[in-house]
Amino acid sequence: MLPSPGMGHLIPLVEFAKRLHNFFSITFIIPTDGPLPQAQQTFLSALPSSIDYLLLPPVSFHDLPDDVKIETRISLTITRSAASIRESLKSLHQTKKLAALVVDLFGTDAFDVALDFKIPPYIFFPSTGTLLSLLFHLPKLDQTVSCEYRDVPEKLQIPGCVPIHGRDLLDPLQDRKNDAYKWVLHHSKRYKMAQGIILNSFKELEPRTIEALQQKEDGDGKPIVYPIGPLIQIGSKSEKGSEQSSVCLDWLNEQPNNSVLFASFGSGGTLSHDQIIELAFGLEMSQQRFLWVIRCPNDKTSNASYFSIQNFDDPLEFLPQGFLERTKGRGLVVPMWAPQAQVLAHGSVCAFVTHCGWNSILESVVNGVPLIAWPLYAEQRMNAVMLHEDVKVALRPKAGENGLVGRDEIVNVVKGLMEGEEGKGVRTRMRELKDAAAQVLSENGSSTKSLGELTNKWKSNTCVNQ
Ligand code: UDP
Repeated sequence: MLPSPGMGHLIPLVEFAKRLHNFFSITFIIPTDGPLPQAQQTFLSALPSSIDYLLLPPVSFHDLPDDVKIETRISLTITRSAASIRESLKSLHQTKKLAALVVDLFGTDAFDVALDFKIPPYIFFPSTGTLLSLLFHLPKLDQTVSCEYRDVPEKLQIPGCVPIHGRDLLDPLQDRKNDAYKWVLHHSKRYKMAQGIILNSFKELEPRTIEALQQKEDGDGKPIVYPIGPLIQIGSKSEKGSEQSSVCLDWLNEQPNNSVLFASFGSGGTLSHDQIIELAFGLEMSQQRFLWVIRCPNDKTSNASYFSIQNFDDPLEFLPQGFLERTKGRGLVVPMWAPQAQVLAHGSVCAFVTHCGWNSILESVVNGVPLIAWPLYAEQRMNAVMLHEDVKVALRPKAGENGLVGRDEIVNVVKGLMEGEEGKGVRTRMRELKDAAAQVLSENGSSTKSLGELTNKWKSNTCVNQ
């Protein structure tokens, strides 16, 4: 398995590996661009014994400009590691029967090496079927649309998906001249080289999209799609927030059942200082109990701490004056990190203000927690459109002309979710999805069957040593 750099990519691939380690031994080949952050080292050292890992020598980025986009950097980490990926596969190939090479969404440049060793290449896709469908469709969009996608007046129709405005497509598709766009297009053209794509979603969540993805037409060359989700991290990332974990969970234990709004913006999400102030007043005015994971503002990028969650200022200093005293007992604000999987599984949590990262969404679905969708970066706007307009498990606050979601809008949407008619529908639909998620993962459920088909294929498909 070859993860793209960053914890956000490593974790879901490791979760997938854990579902396989009774049948296969697994080696992670990890490209790097410098020393591994402490959190990642701790995470890797805690892997089960059937999951091994190799760290590749760091690649250099000294030639890249400072403002290079994350997708370019990730893709170059893989291409610049090609020789060491080849060496690693060669040595594995000499001692083991290799069933598959699994890369994630930006790893398709490793396919060439896999094919040289006759190892079947696969993609683990840690996001939605909607995004996967868009990527299959992207080469056609690229040919037929001449302007920026955000300037197309009508909504775009992606096969099997709810129509979507170009401005809501993922970040690297917002500037077609940037290398990040070229890299995404490059990978999307290579997706057909995969023998299969393992999708962390499930049929009841995206029925029409998954059906469209699985429809085979003669000569379309589309790989088989295996929906095996919802695959979520079980337990906490204790190494990142152990002191915080017990503070949060102890506090939740003291709150009434089904009463707390949880607000958190993923592993890297940051709000501007003005937005923090509006959210604080909104939470205060809503009279709702809340648990809020707060980071220092960064007014330049909304994913400021994606690669490193270290941040040395105290985020609590950016709250309005007197806020903590006024909301004492009713609200808890924790800096940087909370044990989110456990928080969402806690009986006192009733709703989740989320940046719409796919792992966060799946954690909420598994626990039946309805959403307030507040997308920030990557493909999160697409996720928010799908959750609000199609699946109908989220309400979505509107930003004002100044780009901020104002305090009154926050109160409206919180009240709307707790009390309004639309909110009632959202809550009911989320409960249904929770049951569906449990069903697809049960013994005869569709995701269990998909995973079974895949592992049977790999078992019968193992490469013979040369
Ligand atoms: N997470 C967490 N505590 C936090 C913030 C995030 O445990 O305070 C976890 C969360 O449970 C999820 C992952 O980090 O598993 C975030 O992944 P997601 O895809 O939602 O967003 P990303 O961070 O990749 O934007």
